[in-house]
Amino acid sequence: MSTLSFSPHDTYNAFLCHEKEVAYGDGPLSGVPVAVKDNISTIGMQTTCASKILEGYIPPYNAHVVELLLASGAAIVGKTNMDEFAMGSTTENSAYGKTLNPCDITRVPGGSSGGSAAAVAGDLVPMALGSDTGGSIRCPAAFCGIVGLKPSYGRVSRYGLIAYSNSLEQIGPMAKTVTETAELFSVIAGHDPRDASSLDAPYKAALDPELKGKRIAVPEEFFGAGVHPDISKTIKEAIDTIAGEGAELISCSIPSMKYALAAYYVICTSEASSNLGRFDGIQYGKRLDTKKSWHDAYQDHRMQYFGPEVRRRILLGTFSLAAGYYGRYYHKAQTARQMITKEYNHILSKADAIMGPTMPEIAFPFGAKSDPLTMYQTDILTVPANLAGLPALSVPCGTVDGMPVGLQIIGACGADEMVLNLGYGYEEVAS
Ligand code: GLN
Repeated sequence: MSTLSFSPHDTYNAFLCHEKEVAYGDGPLSGVPVAVKDNISTIGMQTTCASKILEGYIPPYNAHVVELLLASGAAIVGKTNMDEFAMGSTTENSAYGKTLNPCDITRVPGGSSGGSAAAVAGDLVPMALGSDTGGSIRCPAAFCGIVGLKPSYGRVSRYGLIAYSNSLEQIGPMAKTVTETAELFSVIAGHDPRDASSLDAPYKAALDPELKGKRIAVPEEFFGAGVHPDISKTIKEAIDTIAGEGAELISCSIPSMKYALAAYYVICTSEASSNLGRFDGIQYGKRLDTKKSWHDAYQDHRMQYFGPEVRRRILLGTFSLAAGYYGRYYHKAQTARQMITKEYNHILSKADAIMGPTMPEIAFPFGAKSDPLTMYQTDILTVPANLAGLPALSVPCGTVDGMPVGLQIIGACGADEMVLNLGYGYEEVAS
């Protein structure tokens, strides 16, 4: 065992807590400082999900990915800021203050893994883990100009990830290059019997940059209303660069995409309303000192320590699951999810990947999206991959108004290798 001292100049508020002296072992990531999103359980380090309700909570066990990081010799230097319980797209919903975008500190870093993205983009660490339920790795990666992978559902164990929406989320790697992203992915991917949805599919980092002969589907919906024209232009140029290397472009359409956002927000809030029921002020974190009845104490506690976005989503989810509304909302959302999955799978049976923008616009100034609906709309291009369980990578591909733009590469379920190879191929020709 060796030790590493870590004292980041964290002007971005990327870290919620960090170690000054970190022990590390031998292995492929020996001594590499890695930051971990604060919804991933770490023995001995606070895990708050950036919520007041979990203030002071120190998990009694490590997440599977943390065990793997430690076994790889990595130095886990700290926990990163995020939107409370991973609900958001800007990291403004953290109970511990916003994280600043290192590319322009007047703008959001994206979310919900904004702390992890800022820690990497701001050169505080070379690699970080995020989690992605509807875009939370890819959005901040795009906004901060780094690489982020949302793996295929099941490829990385969720054991020890504090659940927001189990059927949608995955832990994934974030770094400055596809090569480092792939290295971190090779450490965390693989089977874990403690996660019932875990696949037996390890990843061996052996990147192949060949673009020639690859079939790239380009859906018109990724360039439709709501996507800023300058983003469309930048992404089309990146895709043309890939075509210039001998890739074949296939124009296509995904009509069910118009249902994706609504389906996502019904499903994720429904699952959240159930998952967050366990935070009762008794078992974990902050306790309310009260002599009131259990019912009143539970209500006071949750009112006081959950932020407004979390409360909004618990209410929305409880409503969608209520008897009498279940068929109209939750069941319908599941039907839409199936349609979306079918259409994506159909396209990906004929193409190696789908490409388009990660986000419809560049990182915007703090406070720019004050109503929830406008905020939710920024997730339109990222949520389909989660609904369908597909791997999706965001790779930097130029700038608009001086801010980074992310190219999104979506593959068939289990084709994380393909997605990383294409990203690597693009990175090679673009640099
Ligand atoms: N922005 C989306 C949401 O608020 C995605 C969040 C995430 O991927 N955790 O739910």
